[in-house]
Amino acid sequence: TQADLTTAQDLARRAALLLDNAILYREARQSVLLRDEFLSIASHELKTPLTPLQLRLQSLRRETQKGLPAIPTPVVASQLEVVQRQVAKLSALVNGLLDVSRISSGRLTLDREPLDLAELARDVVSRFSVTATQAGCAVSLITQDDMRGSWDRLRVDQVLTNLLTNALKYGAGKPVVLRLSGDEAHVRIAVEDSGIGIAPEHLTRIFERFGRAVSERHYGGLGLGLYITRQIVESHGGEVHVHSTPGQGSRFEVVLPR
Ligand code: ADP
Repeated sequence: TQADLTTAQDLARRAALLLDNAILYREARQSVLLRDEFLSIASHELKTPLTPLQLRLQSLRRETQKGLPAIPTPVVASQLEVVQRQVAKLSALVNGLLDVSRISSGRLTLDREPLDLAELARDVVSRFSVTATQAGCAVSLITQDDMRGSWDRLRVDQVLTNLLTNALKYGAGKPVVLRLSGDEAHVRIAVEDSGIGIAPEHLTRIFERFGRAVSERHYGGLGLGLYITRQIVESHGGEVHVHSTPGQGSRFEVVLPR
């Protein structure tokens, strides 16, 4: 509908504005080399979804301007699906940048509530099952019974989502396992893949802001997911670790006090 288009255009404009802000942010803090690198990666990442968005919006606008009785519904539906997917991608990028700004100004606050981690994990995994099936790979959940504790639901969801997104993205299409275990005081979340792995010299950098394993740049991404993940885990009083062998896979482990 016209309202959807206006919303999508508005979002695209806001994303462009945020990109400007992100650039200013980096300019104030980073060396020229890092700034240029960030600029090129961030512009590329934000621009990639914008191009198909603009094309679909143009074509939908042309169709409506022709004043044709009706645009065939499947055409509209498929165009809008593209718009929706790309807007989701943009908003994930923008949310990542917003989280980084929250973290650096100390505004990442937790809203704790009693939670069953196993239940939350089941929700997250079922959300992933469509993407995973399309990508021809499986995500399975193995959990103990008592996984209760007091955490921020949205933030823990974000941690699981980030780790599973990476396991699928860098997992070479092989099965991914999410394993939950715990003792009286802690729960342990492990996400295991059998994908490309990470070279030992990059293991520290990947948890840093905008930190990526350089050789994998063609996978796309801003290098914010693990930085945000670590901040969320640490603000819950927990820890995150990684064990990885290049060419064999990775295991990310999060320990959270209950
Ligand atoms: P992004 O995926 O957007 O680059 P992340 O912060 O989520 O950002 O990850 C940082 C980097 O860590 C990635 O660029 C990639 O090099 C590496 N990485 C993360 N998860 C995995 C994984 N499961 N297997 C291999 N490499 C990974």
